[in-house]
Amino acid sequence: MNRSTSEKLYQEALLHIVGGVNSPSRSFKAVGGGAPVFMKRASGSNFWDEDGNRYIDYLAAYGPIITGHAHPHITSAIIAAAENGVLYGTPTQLEITLAKMLKEAIPSMDKVRFVNSGTEAVMTTIRVARAFTKRSKIVKFAGCYHGHSDLVLVAAGSGPSTLGIPDSAGVPKSIAQEVITVPFNDLDSLQEALEKWGEDVAAVMVEPIVGNFGMVMPQPGFLEGLCKLTHDNGSLVIYDEVITAFRFHYGSTQTYAGLENHHDITPDLTALGKIIGGGLPIGAYGGRKEVMEQVAPLGPAYQAGTMAGNPASISAGIACLEVLRAEGVYDEMERLANRLADGLQQSADRHGIPLTINRIRGSFSTHFCDHPITNYEEAQDTDGERFASFFRHMLNRGINLAPSKYEAWFLTTAHTDADIDATLEAAEESFSAMATE
Ligand code: PMP
Repeated sequence: MNRSTSEKLYQEALLHIVGGVNSPSRSFKAVGGGAPVFMKRASGSNFWDEDGNRYIDYLAAYGPIITGHAHPHITSAIIAAAENGVLYGTPTQLEITLAKMLKEAIPSMDKVRFVNSGTEAVMTTIRVARAFTKRSKIVKFAGCYHGHSDLVLVAAGSGPSTLGIPDSAGVPKSIAQEVITVPFNDLDSLQEALEKWGEDVAAVMVEPIVGNFGMVMPQPGFLEGLCKLTHDNGSLVIYDEVITAFRFHYGSTQTYAGLENHHDITPDLTALGKIIGGGLPIGAYGGRKEVMEQVAPLGPAYQAGTMAGNPASISAGIACLEVLRAEGVYDEMERLANRLADGLQQSADRHGIPLTINRIRGSFSTHFCDHPITNYEEAQDTDGERFASFFRHMLNRGINLAPSKYEAWFLTTAHTDADIDATLEAAEESFSAMATE
């Protein structure tokens, strides 16, 4: 496959844009380096690059594009919004419409505030939790990603529960010391952390179903235990549902039937992003009324945004949720994901390549290993070189995946059985080639 234009554009991009990309996850650093593909156009489940090559897309822009690219209903909503003026700096009725849709689908959110990204949403939930509890520390789980604000760019130290160490230059040690990191699916470590630092802990933050070291389900009882331990400690529970909301059904994980025993527990605050903006920049956070009333102009916790709640993003979000509300949409994504994941597994098995697939409804992750993936440590202990080879073989056969062994494959409402057939054919050829490498 000739990608000479992408290579040329990458050289040019390197001169002007740091690292040639506007988000490090887009670089091919984790899969052996070189030029990422410069895409030119997208429609439905397809991408076309600058050289005219076509790809079937499973990146879905890291999650938001759940209805496929350029969905006509969302596109018309964006055009209509643009024609009416893209930014007002005043309240609009549209914001009320989307807020009501979110509240209806996620009942724990009494009050909502729109922001511009998942990062902002998460960052603000932490501020609000600190304002409400008048405590400073937060607990997070190793390998969960919560955006790039200082407090959550913190990695685990060694040991089951640790005060964090900065995961990025520029994050002061003093800030990392405000973060306690424990392994996902490990209630004992959480309990230990709360026993040690509990009276300083404002909140425990979690991706209730993990999307950032593959797709990983909470083990039965984990979220219930987490909520109980946290609330008993007088701390708030924050669910980061930036990936998970509207991913598995029309709602969040909080009412997802696939989670056993997850009744009667609700987070105090929820952070949202991605899907709820239909592909335009958005984030939102919401939660219990008395907690949310900490936020300005009602309360002392400040948060603001020039672009927040802009009519284009809100209109795209409403249109996206309208598409997702239709009968059978999630079942069909699951049917296709199931076919694809089963086919990949069989193909890998046939060629003697160890592969663990974690599938949840219409999304799944592929891990080159022969053990289950239930936490970050296990996800790290997989064959990154094999993933890199698989990624490149698939790309060269017109299948676009995320260039990282930790990212998920996302099915969209635009994928078809023909896409799955073509992808499985590419995978069979890829595994066959890999078996002799
Ligand atoms: N939380 C989670 C769970 C995420 O997956 C992400 C982004 N991948 C974020 C927060 C940050 O969102 P954004 O990139 O929109 O800032």
